[in-house]
Amino acid sequence: MSENAPNVPAVLLQVDLDSLWAIRQVYGLGNPDDFHADDPVYDLAVERFLDLFESRGVRATFFAIGRDCLIESRACVLSEAAARGHEIANHSHTHPIAIGSLGLDAVREEVTAAQEAIRAATGTTPRGFRSPGYALTPEVLQSVIEAGLDYDASLLPTCAARWLRLAGGLFRKGGRLSGTEGQYGAPQAGRAPTSPYFADPSDPWNPSLAPSSRSLLEIPVAVTPRLRLPVHCSIAIGLGWAWTRRALDAVCREAPAVAYVFHGIDLLGGDETTGLPGGVLGRRAFLQPYERKRRIVGRVLDLLLDRGLPILSRDFAVVRCSEKT
Ligand SMILES: [Zn+2]
Repeated sequence: MSENAPNVPAVLLQVDLDSLWAIRQVYGLGNPDDFHADDPVYDLAVERFLDLFESRGVRATFFAIGRDCLIESRACVLSEAAARGHEIANHSHTHPIAIGSLGLDAVREEVTAAQEAIRAATGTTPRGFRSPGYALTPEVLQSVIEAGLDYDASLLPTCAARWLRLAGGLFRKGGRLSGTEGQYGAPQAGRAPTSPYFADPSDPWNPSLAPSSRSLLEIPVAVTPRLRLPVHCSIAIGLGWAWTRRALDAVCREAPAVAYVFHGIDLLGGDETTGLPGGVLGRRAFLQPYERKRRIVGRVLDLLLDRGLPILSRDFAVVRCSEKT
């Protein structure tokens, strides 16, 4: 490739299936046990994503929460997604937003219980993990390695973690931040690589000097070059298309791989959800009309497919892991 040839990144499409109960839990709202109630993320949004991806001829990775798979209707939805060629990956069992401050035993349980639940629901074994709130810690990496997965996708390599956490506090009762320790990652995440790398649990934010069976492929979530601002689709919906187009153009110009995150709620209109934070910010971030959200999600997807080459995260990991040995 000549020096002036345009960058053609690998595009890893990823959808975090945070159900409404999990989003409410992040913001300290609702009852932690209300995950039994009907949930539009599974009842509506997954099918919408499947149709959207099918219309573009691409496949994606759905990060599912283990306990959702214990409900038969949700297990069926995931099973259908797997049957249509999509990847189902592990997004912890109970989505504890403070997973970054949990000890090894508790994190291990989150990873293994979700592996079992997703395997039982879909008949396939997850190959990748993303922790709630993008928390990458030695305990997370250790647990994912022990469970035999091929990659971790927890790292959001941003310097803005503190500000994102404070902004999230605006949605919480009284602005309280207790219980969100570690959300958006450790301070070291701001200096971690923005491209995929092999890491080991002794220092998960830096590439291993000699990748081995003790190290795992870390696939960071896409951020803008230099300022390292998050660009995932919920941010795009909040900030609008003009900002998003410029940000994604910059990402695709420089990154060798773009792990782009959608959330289930990105394809739900404000009138299809209940119990989410309101106010000016809540309306901007969560409660916009479905048609507007769908337009931005479609534009984001089209831009990514125009600039890069789509590949499933698990297939990307297989290719990169073959380079390790
Ligand atoms: Zn999540």
